[in-house]
Amino acid sequence: MNKNAKPVLVFATHNANKAREVQQMLGAAYEVKTLADIGCHEEIPETADTLEGNARIKAMHVVEHYGLDCFADDTGLEVAALEGRPGVRTARYAGEPADSQQNMAKLLAEMKGATQREAQFRTAICLVQSGREVLLEGVCKGTIATELSGAEGFGYDPVFMPAGETRTFAEMSSEEKNRLSHRGKAVRLMVETLLASR
Ligand code: IMP
Repeated sequence: MNKNAKPVLVFATHNANKAREVQQMLGAAYEVKTLADIGCHEEIPETADTLEGNARIKAMHVVEHYGLDCFADDTGLEVAALEGRPGVRTARYAGEPADSQQNMAKLLAEMKGATQREAQFRTAICLVQSGREVLLEGVCKGTIATELSGAEGFGYDPVFMPAGETRTFAEMSSEEKNRLSHRGKAVRLMVETLLASR
């Protein structure tokens, strides 16, 4: 390898925006590539029954088929009154294909009249570096609002109010959300791990 070349780290995702965010946080230390960048255009099946399991499946797919250092994430919304559901089924809660408006409508209907509204977003990251596997986690605690508010963000943002806030994620700028969010926390932990290993 050219001694000035940066080590490549594959993010096992088709979401270029997520990859750009991580690249910004890692600075010049690594070159982050997406699945498309390495010629992997398939949807890797997420068949595990935990977030950690799905993150591991995606990361190991890249390690086994491409031999590259890699990480993958998986996020779930865990609602206390629903005994942790939708959890690993968060994306497909209202069925497939995934549709955020339908997912939120189903959640608000299931939560109608519920006074216990505590919930958390949890992100699991599986990082594989030189064959060594590390699991990292980021949690954002909050509550499920009684109606949709805000137009920013994606997914369940209009119904999730982080603890200590009177606004939903969808009423925050992306910088504000990243400071508080599950994924922001998990990615910051991974960045610390990567930078410490250099
Ligand atoms: P993924 O693991 O990032 O694909 O996310 C799984 C599910 O959680 C999808 O339905 C996403 O829309 C939802 N989700 C993940 N992160 C967030 C978030 O930060 N806000 C709202 N919904 C999210």
